Amino acid sequence: MSERNPALTGIGMTSSRTRTRMIERLIEQGIRHPAVLACFDQVPRHLFVDEALGHKAYEDISVPIGYSQTLSQPYIVARMSELVLAAPHHERVLEIGTGSGFQTCVLAKLVDEVFSVERIKPLQDKARARLRTLRLTNTQLKMADGFLGWPTQAPFDVIIGTAAPKSPPPELLDQLIPDGGRLIMPIGEEIQYLTVIDKRGEDFDIQQIEPVVFVPMLSGVKTQ
Ligand code: SAH
Repeated sequence: MSERNPALTGIGMTSSRTRTRMIERLIEQGIRHPAVLACFDQVPRHLFVDEALGHKAYEDISVPIGYSQTLSQPYIVARMSELVLAAPHHERVLEIGTGSGFQTCVLAKLVDEVFSVERIKPLQDKARARLRTLRLTNTQLKMADGFLGWPTQAPFDVIIGTAAPKSPPPELLDQLIPDGGRLIMPIGEEIQYLTVIDKRGEDFDIQQIEPVVFVPMLSGVKTQ
């Protein structure tokens, strides 16, 4: 990414100093993985929200992206990315809920191949344009109901969800590699926990990481 392109490097509230402050905060919050921290230094988070909200992109908050959806706060994206890298295998990753494409972009820098499904077409269109601007070539996007996963590309080493179902969707568990596959997603209704489910043959090891607030995972697709 060219340091001379102001659209990518940002100015003022989206400058490199603002990014450095965000990274210091992530470290204070317990994020340690150098590759994850490097991503937050490199990925221009302000490009993933509407221009008017660009100055909010580096704060410790979630930011609206339209259609009642939000881009998660930096800490949550970083924490989930660390959980991806801590999985026994993490070459092929499926993301449920492309949204702005920010988490997709972070994952694309950390793993070999990223597949991402989104149910709201206009959000997917914008995310696709952003990923193209950033010249990411190892991502594939699809309009689909994430409850069904992406059967033709399965199995995945890791499936990461950025919207909360009431319980772990069985199709997603099925589409994990049998030995060492990992599902990472918020699960619950009024109270949600960021949950990690590790698949070992027929057994599932479930860990509740921390309470979180995500938008609900909804069935069906929305074309406009
Ligand atoms: N990872 C996103 C977060 C977006 S919010 C980002 O970095 O911006 C969660 C997203 O999940 C929304 O875009 C929402 O439309 C999507 N979503 C909710 N239920 C879904 C489903 N069943 N299938 C696919 N996407 C879904």
